[in-house]
Amino acid sequence: MNNKKTFICLTLIVACLQLPKTGQAQATNDNDDPAIQRVAPFQVFDNLYYIGAKWVAAWLLVSDQGLIVFDSLYGDLTDIAIDGIRELGFDPNDIRYLVITHAHYDHVGGARRFQDEFSPVVMMTEQDWQMTTQPAEYREYPTPVRHLSATTGGVINLGRTRVHFMQTPGHTPGVLSAFFTVYDDGYPHTAFLFGGAGLNFSGVERTETYIDSIRRIQKITDIEVNIPNHPGLGDVFERYQQLQNRQEGEPHPFVDPEGFYNWMDELLANAEAKLEQERAAAN
Ligand SMILES: [Zn+2]
Repeated sequence: MNNKKTFICLTLIVACLQLPKTGQAQATNDNDDPAIQRVAPFQVFDNLYYIGAKWVAAWLLVSDQGLIVFDSLYGDLTDIAIDGIRELGFDPNDIRYLVITHAHYDHVGGARRFQDEFSPVVMMTEQDWQMTTQPAEYREYPTPVRHLSATTGGVINLGRTRVHFMQTPGHTPGVLSAFFTVYDDGYPHTAFLFGGAGLNFSGVERTETYIDSIRRIQKITDIEVNIPNHPGLGDVFERYQQLQNRQEGEPHPFVDPEGFYNWMDELLANAEAKLEQERAAAN
């Protein structure tokens, strides 16, 4: 190692050691580093592609009249989604709708950039639009320009593609979930994107709201495919590995109704345990 390199290395080490003291520890956070977070985009169904990062998802739904993107990533990670769309052979200028599952930075943080660069219609629930104008819960992000509010029973139609919305509050006051049809070599399956599974919130009422959301999802009995907004919540990469090794005639590894409803049971059990704790804390 020559002197110049030694100097640079020492400078970097000193800089890194100093970061936590100066309050910029996030600069060393692996979650925020696009070099660490980059995943090559991949096709999961005829009309659905993964364009997200390692820890947080973004999805591309392709219609005959343009593109629908679910979630925007944030900061430098938004490059992963935009580059992914291009690498897959699509044009980000064809994005007609950007659907935001909830207004935490990791899902909504890149929305303003999509609006500025590609002019899609951005959809969120009214409650989470309101969150975007209030102080951020975890981390600030560029405020998106308010477009449309999505409600339970609402749909977007784009060519022959239809996306149904459902409000599933709890994780935030206005979590937005969506269901739509995905095709496996032309064969249709019902996919569900649960917009906010995490229990990182507090209060008896919010927990009851979350439980009610899970119960309403459980009443939809024909969900076959879990499209999570964090890949770890639905074994996205493991299933994609299986998909690549799939033999002729084998089932599609993302088509797993039992896995989806088991996950809902698990979320419900966790939320009910949380409710007991919240009630104890409130008394
Ligand atoms: Zn969140």
